[in-house]
Amino acid sequence: ELPRIRGDVNFDSIVFEYEKGRPALRGISLDVQAGQTIALVGHTGSGKSTIMNLLCRFYDPVHGAVRIDGIDIRNVSIESLRSQVGVVLQDTFIFSGTIRENIRFGRLNATDDEIVKAATAVDAHDFIMSLPDGYDTEVQERGNSLSMGQRQLLSFARALLADPRVLILDEATASIDTETELKIQEALKKLLKGRTSFIVAHRLSTIRNADRIVVLDHGQIVEQGSHDEL
Ligand code: ATP
Ligand code: MG
Repeated sequence: ELPRIRGDVNFDSIVFEYEKGRPALRGISLDVQAGQTIALVGHTGSGKSTIMNLLCRFYDPVHGAVRIDGIDIRNVSIESLRSQVGVVLQDTFIFSGTIRENIRFGRLNATDDEIVKAATAVDAHDFIMSLPDGYDTEVQERGNSLSMGQRQLLSFARALLADPRVLILDEATASIDTETELKIQEALKKLLKGRTSFIVAHRLSTIRNADRIVVLDHGQIVEQGSHDEL
């Protein structure tokens, strides 16, 4: 069981391979203080998603360890880990159901008030209220009733409600208009505040705002620093 954590994250000499003899990560060491925002960048196949997969314990490293607050996450129950490490995926998944249910998925015992509060914080409330049935509007998993930007804001509201200490965010690559883009940047700032965050970043604005940028290449960290330093 993880106690209420601070959110220090340490990747210690991580080696990992999906298939024998084909290492996807070749000695990754990274120390992140609680509250920091790390932008992960690098070519396709460089290992960005793999690092995040290990932090979620979808896989365990072949060598090395991932630690949260100094505790090897292999010694932590999956439930405990899941409650403190939140994930926002690239294809921000929406399931068939109401908007309210989609946001509540972040924390099943959340009240309606808390749901509205989370949606308001990420500036999703107005567009939700403009829908035919507001928070009770039914959306479809693959329906196009919501724009990409709106789906992203919903996923932010869901994550904010879950309130994990460590957040992993695989930024959507879809192009969105400038106005929505600004909205998303503002929402993202709120979502990241006070937690340790790893963003697989595609947007320049996100990279610029990160405390540290980590550049991966062929499963290794080849450069890191702030936007000004790099
Ligand atoms: P992208 O920018 O395309 O998302 P990425 O940096 O996230 O790339 P990874 O998905 O971490 O890259 O992939 C790292 C390496 O591991 C690649 O060589 C990839 O082919 C391999 N790989 C990723 N997932 C699997 C898997 N499930 N099974 C086997 N090999 C995989
Ligand atoms: Mg990836």
